[in-house]
Amino acid sequence: MLKTILRLLLLGITVCLASGCHTVPYSDRTRFLATSESEEARMGLDAWNEVLQSEKVSSDPFLNHALKRVGGAIAAVSGRSDFNWEFKVFDSETANAYCLPGGKVGVYTALYRYTANDAELATVVSHEIAHAICRHGGERVSQNLLQTLGAALLSTATDSEAVMVAYGAATQYGALLPFSRKHESEADYVGLLLMAKAGYDPRQSIAFWRKFGDQESSKLMEYVSTHPHGTTRIEGLQEKMPEALKLYEQSPRKGLGTVYSQKDLSAALPR
Ligand SMILES: [Zn+2]
Repeated sequence: MLKTILRLLLLGITVCLASGCHTVPYSDRTRFLATSESEEARMGLDAWNEVLQSEKVSSDPFLNHALKRVGGAIAAVSGRSDFNWEFKVFDSETANAYCLPGGKVGVYTALYRYTANDAELATVVSHEIAHAICRHGGERVSQNLLQTLGAALLSTATDSEAVMVAYGAATQYGALLPFSRKHESEADYVGLLLMAKAGYDPRQSIAFWRKFGDQESSKLMEYVSTHPHGTTRIEGLQEKMPEALKLYEQSPRKGLGTVYSQKDLSAALPR
């Protein structure tokens, strides 16, 4: 079994070298992927089904409408009409959001404490969707596999059972692994372009990350622990802003971004 996996991976690497690997959308970066898109979507769906069983879905109409409106607009310009898009709000005091491979998007209620309008919500949603369309989940799984197999090759004993356990864990939970800094800045860049293309003013992303960054010292927020420091992030976004503004000017839906009534928003948020 170990030999089969090694052979498949070597084959993958050979094919990768011959074909020039997979290129990340909007970026020139190429990388090795050991997973197929359908495998990644299956992992994403498994993770989604688990989340639906273990977490409380919010039925609040205000928060759900906002997410569907924003998520739908971003998904429409993502170039992934083949994804099985779904948008759900979860009741939680953790300010977090994600998009699983295949297009399942979850936003936690506490995140809305930092959004004053759809454009600010679009900042987070497009960042998360960018992770999915750039296939960062599949890349993390592939990196984990290579590390595991590398360790197995280095060890004198080829303990195939241990490799299989690690292989199982990597493919099963890989979709939920934290992203690296490189993936984070790539998702910031691609997300910025997506929100601009959809018609949301990309400059609103700065307003959102400033508010969110002010809370960074708070231990409550799991989200920021795997995400870059606010100042670095804002500098990165400002550098890419001219490119995003060009897309925004060309967007047929330029000017999108319902502003939330503070009264409605506070009524919708958990006390
Ligand atoms: Zn991220």
